[in-house]
Amino acid sequence: MSQAKSPWDEANPFDENELLGSSDSFDGLSDDGADLTGSSVGDASVAGTDEAAEESEATVTGRVLCVNCGHNLDGQPMIEQCPNCGHAITDSVHGDALLDTASENAQRLFEASNLVWYPTVLLTILGAAAMTFQLIQVRNVIEDAQMVFDLGFFIAMVTPAISILGIFVLTRRRTVAYYYARYSEPATAMRLAAYALIIVATICVGAMYLGRIIGEMLLVAWFAIPNVMFLDGMGKLMKRLARKKLAKYLHMCGFWAAVLSAAALVVMMLRRFGLQDVEVTAPRIALIWLTIISALILWGVTLRQFVLARRILRSLKRTGG
Ligand SMILES: [Zn+2]
Repeated sequence: MSQAKSPWDEANPFDENELLGSSDSFDGLSDDGADLTGSSVGDASVAGTDEAAEESEATVTGRVLCVNCGHNLDGQPMIEQCPNCGHAITDSVHGDALLDTASENAQRLFEASNLVWYPTVLLTILGAAAMTFQLIQVRNVIEDAQMVFDLGFFIAMVTPAISILGIFVLTRRRTVAYYYARYSEPATAMRLAAYALIIVATICVGAMYLGRIIGEMLLVAWFAIPNVMFLDGMGKLMKRLARKKLAKYLHMCGFWAAVLSAAALVVMMLRRFGLQDVEVTAPRIALIWLTIISALILWGVTLRQFVLARRILRSLKRTGG
């Protein structure tokens, strides 16, 4: 989940290529493709993209699928449109800046962002009210710290509803046709099935010996993965809007969302081993501090998120015209 990589590293921690263990260089291209700067496209796939001028002569040399219809663009000139559906080939290769595409695209995104914005505001207000209410009637520091943690955890469990919607309406670049074309080949489908089988088997075997721990890990994964993916996708979207600082910031948020999720898991593990019932002072204090620090970070992140979300909305609105 949390990798040693720098958070603003281009690499998506949930990059499907990594999940697939793909060694095909052209696969990597289409995913890093959201890179607006675009000039650093892998040489394996596109000849001579260092200069914008050279791009007019460049052709796609590798299996790059059209993000719109899944058609294989191998051998097509970069400046052309997909022969199958007419979508710009440059978009499939390195993700066109939204500024260069039709303004309806940005307009549509701006409208869709409301679907994510309002539930987020509502959830934050409810969560803040509940946590504040909990904190003003302090009885026992440990119990309260745990109640706040539970509340935070409950809110976290609801957030995937918003982030999954966000992934679908805002950050998804490729169509179902693309994924079908990419994964329907027998070799790829077999490989996917094998990975799925290994993961399910690992969880099942693990659950037999470490039942509750695996269950808790799955709970954390349930909110960690969609949230990190959504923040990462929003970062890529901001890059396509040429908002590099916002993009960097969103990638950083994705990184911290992963760190917080890992911290939540640590707190749950500490509780699992019954530290609240034992008369061991040090771990109890550690538990309290972990909870308080997590809550503070969560608040900081939430507040920054509001400022940021407003800038994103304005960004989209401006581009939409
Ligand atoms: Zn196409």
